[in-house]
Amino acid sequence: MNKVSICPVCEKEAELSASNPYRPFCSERCRLIDLGQWINEAYSVSEPSISDNDIDLEPFQKHYTQDT
Ligand SMILES: [Zn+2]
Repeated sequence: MNKVSICPVCEKEAELSASNPYRPFCSERCRLIDLGQWINEAYSVSEPSISDNDIDLEPFQKHYTQDT
């Protein structure tokens, strides 16, 4: 019985057993990609966020006002 998870990078199956040194990623490539993204995020903290304002809150707000 293999413990299998979904690789957070490529969303393929990733083995969680000790035979996979890159778990929870499926491969070294995905592990490095994730590490690179993490570093990019850490370095971009001081920069203005471009994505936060793009989040559409309207459906949530409609739902909220209907309840009150
Ligand atoms: Zn992967």
